[in-house]
Amino acid sequence: SAALIDGKAFAAGLRARIADKVPAFREATGRAPGLAVVLVGEDPASAVYVRSKGKQTREAGMESFEHKLPADTDQATLLALVDQLNADPAVDGILVQLPLPTHLDEQEVLLRISPDKDVDGFHPVNAGRLATGLPGFVPCTPLGCLMLLEDRLGDLSGLDAVVIGRSNIVGKPMAALLTAKSCTVTVTHSRTRNLPHYLKHADIVVAAVGIAHFVKGEWLKPGATVIDVGINRTETGLTGDVDFESAAAVAGAITPVPGGVGPMTIAVLLRNTLVAAHRREGVALDEAEV
Ligand code: NAD
Repeated sequence: SAALIDGKAFAAGLRARIADKVPAFREATGRAPGLAVVLVGEDPASAVYVRSKGKQTREAGMESFEHKLPADTDQATLLALVDQLNADPAVDGILVQLPLPTHLDEQEVLLRISPDKDVDGFHPVNAGRLATGLPGFVPCTPLGCLMLLEDRLGDLSGLDAVVIGRSNIVGKPMAALLTAKSCTVTVTHSRTRNLPHYLKHADIVVAAVGIAHFVKGEWLKPGATVIDVGINRTETGLTGDVDFESAAAVAGAITPVPGGVGPMTIAVLLRNTLVAAHRREGVALDEAEV
């Protein structure tokens, strides 16, 4: 049966490599890399994410600036905060926790973040940079998936990859990353007519659907590497988008949920912040090392 891809352990290693790079940056600039996180309202899941982001940022030796705004914050106030963070020399990365309360215009807020501080990689300028092969910032979750895939498989060139889901946050950037690594990429989505047909030949499957147990083991190519991005809350706890038991019987390797992709997201956020800080200050960093 399939090998387990231990994202928790990989993320811990990545955080350690990031923390190792902080002292030299401090030495060169007299300050630590800084990440600003903006949380509007009291969504409990978002509050948990923001707390872990702050904690892991500090544990890596970086500065965490946390801005908690009330749920009834208006658009102008939020935009003014983004402007202030864009101008703040101590801030290298800015993250506005999504989803925003529905009275706010998410798109306008994301567009306001300076692309060079956009460590979430959600600004269209960064999406364009990814699509055209320019250096920028790549969304954390798909970049984390790519790291796990390369760690497991080495060179991905020529492999057949199927991405299930086409969101701007996961599916689309995942497909762009795999294309850049010379995979043959198929993007499938809610209107795809015959998903098993595409999965039959896939060496790599990345599932980002949001439906528990959606991908069945019998659809997979034996030996496939399966990355399960899904986080679904069910009566029995957290579960992914892949039907783990049937998939593990066929796949060569698979990420568990929890403990697979989940822990990678914040670790990559810290990585993007470290990279942003070095680029902004013109301090050399071998980005391939982190
Ligand atoms: P989304 O709702 O924005 O996108 C879901 C995608 O699935 C859509 O593109 C849709 O076309 C596709 N889809 C829906 N039904 C389908 C079907 N029957 N067949 C094929 N495709 C179908 O979600 P998202 O933001 O991309 O997130 C996807 C999942 O990943 C969610 O469970 C989310 O919680 C999880 N997620 C996890 C992390 C993490 O850190 N691990 C980060 C982001 C998202």
